[in-house]
Amino acid sequence: MQLHLACRHCDQLVYIASLQKTQVAYCPNCRSKIALGKNNSEQKVVALSICAIAMLLSSLFYPFISFSEQGITQTITLLDAGKILFEFNSPLLGILIDITIIFLPLTLLVFFILIHIGLLKILPRTYASKLLKMIFILIPWVMSEIFLIGILISMIKIMSIADISFGLSFFSFSAFIFFYLMCLTHIDKNKLWQHIAMVDNRPLIGTPARAIEHNYRACHNCQQLISSNICDRCHSKTYSRYPFSIQKVMALLLTSLILYIPANYYPIMHTWVLNQDEPSTILGGIVTLWQMGSYPIAIIIFIASIIIPLAKIFVLTLLCYVVTYKNTLDYASQYQYTKMYQLTEFIGKWSMLDVFVVAVLVALVQLGALMSITPGVGAIFFAAMVFTSMLAAHAFDSRLLWDSIDTTQAKSRFHNKNQEYK
Ligand SMILES: [Zn+2]
Ligand SMILES: [Zn+2]
Repeated sequence: MQLHLACRHCDQLVYIASLQKTQVAYCPNCRSKIALGKNNSEQKVVALSICAIAMLLSSLFYPFISFSEQGITQTITLLDAGKILFEFNSPLLGILIDITIIFLPLTLLVFFILIHIGLLKILPRTYASKLLKMIFILIPWVMSEIFLIGILISMIKIMSIADISFGLSFFSFSAFIFFYLMCLTHIDKNKLWQHIAMVDNRPLIGTPARAIEHNYRACHNCQQLISSNICDRCHSKTYSRYPFSIQKVMALLLTSLILYIPANYYPIMHTWVLNQDEPSTILGGIVTLWQMGSYPIAIIIFIASIIIPLAKIFVLTLLCYVVTYKNTLDYASQYQYTKMYQLTEFIGKWSMLDVFVVAVLVALVQLGALMSITPGVGAIFFAAMVFTSMLAAHAFDSRLLWDSIDTTQAKSRFHNKNQEYK
């Protein structure tokens, strides 16, 4: 399979003649992964998707976790987590959890099977490209793996006060996550777009160069190199850079910073013991865990809920500042800023961990007057904060970091400098 594309991180033009089974293609400029050479990836995706669907469906109908305290046992299924939140005046949180951990991955898995057994060739080109576009937009919003970690953390939180046992569904849900993540590694975006149309007829460019220097635009959906305003493969509008990227990022960051205040000020959950309310905020929960001696869990929640959101806001603001005000950047800083951005984009959704912990605790600890947990309004603000900061990270165009100077010259300068140091 021949590929001629522009790296989506730095706009470097890359030509890949063919890839062997075990080979991976990296961008020669920013060293980001560009393509994977995998044989029989279609069959593997179909097989893994079928396994994942079977595991996910079977995890819906059996007991998930049971919780016993002084002779009272509460058993929940996977669907109960969303349902109980829905009943406790948090319909938004309930719907969000059901969608991101069950319905979205299930729908995506069905589409993974259909597009790998030939649906793209049967559908008219406009529908096929709309479908592929939608699939790749939705993939980053699946949060089942974070929910699983959330379950384990909430178990540790309440292990000292009650007996916990995992039901069959817990194990099939874990297996579903394994198959789902494996399946993602075999999905080849470039190959799928080539099923829709082979329009890769750009002239070969011998020397390292960037798409913008040749007046090419890389379509943000299908990565087709194009010089017109409309992509001839997926019919989307093309831009050489995302329009108003910095303004969008700053607006979303400001929103998420504002949401961060009520998210930390209001309690994220209320624990009712003998009808006495004990509200706890995010920071309060971490302090309690620390005092209880659960140091690793306290550290994980502290990093996921306090450090990651703040670091993300800081890094994205820094990148916007650099792109707007710094006219000259050397290769080393361009490279480091790109890696920083990639890490921010990857790590962002893990901040949802604490919201999932609350969801599991609310679903599980419902023992009437003896002890029950209800969600607090802080959890909704927190979830909204995570979502806006994820949108902010997606809106940033990292190619702007490489636009400031002539990259080829800078890169050779950087390599020469490194040689001198050696
Ligand atoms: Zn690159
Ligand atoms: Zn396109």
